[in-house]
Amino acid sequence: MTEQAHPEWDASYTADTPAPWDIGRPQPTFVRLADEGRLTGRLLDAGCGTGENALLAASSGADVTGIDAAPTAIARARAKASERGLTARFEVADVLDLGGLSLAVDTVIDSGVFHVFGDDDRVRYVASLAAVLRPAGACYLMCFSDRQPGTWGPRRVRPDELRASFSDGWAIESIAADTFDINPMDGMTQVQAWLTAIRRT
Ligand code: SAH
Repeated sequence: MTEQAHPEWDASYTADTPAPWDIGRPQPTFVRLADEGRLTGRLLDAGCGTGENALLAASSGADVTGIDAAPTAIARARAKASERGLTARFEVADVLDLGGLSLAVDTVIDSGVFHVFGDDDRVRYVASLAAVLRPAGACYLMCFSDRQPGTWGPRRVRPDELRASFSDGWAIESIAADTFDINPMDGMTQVQAWLTAIRRT
């Protein structure tokens, strides 16, 4: 993948103000998952942005690969890793085509990525995750929720859409109401999310 492939995503990391999701710390939900010992083994952070959740997993002992289409985000993630003395691989690549990488993982995390894709890319994305996650491996996916009022932000996702997307080759263990922390905007500091725990069968 080249820098030109997703210029719109890179632009969200070169703007004067940080993107709403780029909060400079891990999402509290992933801190909780780390505390529960779930961010383990070889772990992929799909669409890792500037790497906070990936680095949380690395600090919990996971062997971490973070992938994002935005070169600026990946450069920041690498700089944070080296500043913090943490080891993690961060690569510019397309999460819709993970099968093309030589990657096999035990755990996948997705914080705010599934919800960016349209219907066709959603199907590609789930197949792409399936190509790198070993059988019985776990995927923790947090996406924007249809419970979020208003129209600001990414596409809202309903639980039935999550169930349909992960119906073949996956077992959904739970879909729980949760929240994303965001950089304050329009008086909001949190938005409604679904945290889905899914196992590859
Ligand atoms: N997980 C990060 C970023 C979420 S925003 C966080 O929680 O902060 C969505 C991210 O998905 C952006 O960083 C964007 O660059 C990335 N992205 C979008 N489409 C992608 C694709 N096809 N391949 C890889 N990354 C992609």
